[in-house]
Amino acid sequence: MKTSRRLLALAAGLALSLGVAQSFSQPASAQGGKSGVERLYVLNCGEGVAGDISRWSPGVNEGKSMDFVDNCYLIKHSRGWFLWDTGLTDAIAAMPNGQAPADPRMTHWRRPKTLASQLEQLGVKPSDVKFMAVSHTHPDHIGNVEMFPQAMLLVQKSEYEWPNPLGVGRFKPEHPATKLTGDHDVFDDGSIVIISTPGHTPGHQSLLVKLPKTGAVLLSGDAVHFKDNWENRRVPQINDNKDKTSASMQRMADVMAKEKAQLWINHDKAQRDGQKMSPQFYE
Ligand SMILES: [Zn+2]
Repeated sequence: MKTSRRLLALAAGLALSLGVAQSFSQPASAQGGKSGVERLYVLNCGEGVAGDISRWSPGVNEGKSMDFVDNCYLIKHSRGWFLWDTGLTDAIAAMPNGQAPADPRMTHWRRPKTLASQLEQLGVKPSDVKFMAVSHTHPDHIGNVEMFPQAMLLVQKSEYEWPNPLGVGRFKPEHPATKLTGDHDVFDDGSIVIISTPGHTPGHQSLLVKLPKTGAVLLSGDAVHFKDNWENRRVPQINDNKDKTSASMQRMADVMAKEKAQLWINHDKAQRDGQKMSPQFYE
């Protein structure tokens, strides 16, 4: 089984290099090894202003404020919809001045658009989402998990079981969840792969997506918060583990080199300003 899949993948690779990709445009079920990702939407899951970005870059840019964004990514796979991160709770959209942080150095978030309205615009019902995964369990990433009570949540066991300071679970116990212990190939075709990148939190994860035209993209989660920090490999002081964060950044660089992947940084406003936002999409 494994061998035949590998042969199919090899055949697909050969076909692509020979320019006969058209013959592989059938559903993944008919082709086995073919990537089933059809398109990816970047959704606006929040906009905000960070009071002092040295929280994320110790000793650098002290007192400097910066605009942040928060993204969710909706992916259409031939075998179902997959949602990566759920952003800030939609409830913030109803707050006239957004959500001010307790610590003024943190981020003052606004929700110019709800996740619900963006799904509706695409004609996607929450019940259409088959699988979902969050990069980690900070509030700006898990704000709308319960909008999808039936979706299988893919989360690292160490993140799921990470003690919450409030003493409550990070997810509703009845929410279907698969607790992972490392990388995970979501549809078993290599097209959407969860990459374990601990450090920011104990069970932080990133996502490798192989798009048919755009190519491979690595969605950072909060393994890094903005480009300057990536280039200088800076570790935020708020992170759970400094060494693991550094190791995860190296792992990401290795994955990117191997897969020729672009890095899409979730909170980087400058990068998002140059991206197509839903309802436009990437193929
Ligand atoms: Zn975040």
